[in-house]
Amino acid sequence: TEEALMQSEKLSVIGELAAGVAHEIRNPVTVLKGFVQLLSRDTKEKEFYLIMDKELERINQITNEFMALAKPQAIKIKKENIKDLIKEVCVFLESEAFIQQVVMEVVYLEEDIRIDCEANQIKQVLINIIKNGMEAMPDGGKIKIQYYLEAGNVYLSVMDEGHGIAKEMLENVGKPFFTTKGQGTGLGLMVSMKIIENHGGNLTIHSEEYNGTTIIISLPYLSEAK
Ligand code: ADP
Ligand code: MG
Repeated sequence: TEEALMQSEKLSVIGELAAGVAHEIRNPVTVLKGFVQLLSRDTKEKEFYLIMDKELERINQITNEFMALAKPQAIKIKKENIKDLIKEVCVFLESEAFIQQVVMEVVYLEEDIRIDCEANQIKQVLINIIKNGMEAMPDGGKIKIQYYLEAGNVYLSVMDEGHGIAKEMLENVGKPFFTTKGQGTGLGLMVSMKIIENHGGNLTIHSEEYNGTTIIISLPYLSEAK
């Protein structure tokens, strides 16, 4: 539809601007965070500085998520082994998972599946999705990650046992800035969808309230055997 077209055009403009602006915001925020932390050391008003630090961290998170959007000049499409990408993401999230009492279970395949992609972007997508899964399970639980080949596509699924998404919320999930979290940015899924679309793939959300969530990513697979 025309509205969908406008929306996707808007998003690609945001993408181009975001990378540049985000970079410019990050540096001063880093300086501010440093001084806030320094000042908070010997003060009676510690809690105010903690709030300042937390809010600065929020700015950081928003800018990081924007920076993950397509940055044409930085894109390096290469053949990457899915198994390696997943392993690297799991190592990166290991300590956080431990703290949240979340177990990440990956079903690794014997065969190597290699796809054309920008590794950092695909890893960012996996991180966003797995983090959402963790945040949906405040008392811990399991996140199951699987991948398989089917009909010329690679499918990657991330399943959690969290609180799920209510039917009436589902259509809002993935819209820019939609969040149900106090400290959320509402950008993670939007950015992830955009990245997957840029790779010629698809990201779908399957969820039911109280019944966990499964995110399925499909990416085009070009057989290397040819
Ligand atoms: P954020 O995590 O900052 O809120 P996201 O774009 O990552 O932003 O997610 C948007 C919203 O979608 C979340 O606030 C949450 O309500 C819902 N959501 C996303 N993933 C999950 C999940 N795995 N389980 C339950 N709800 C989810
Ligand atoms: Mg998120």
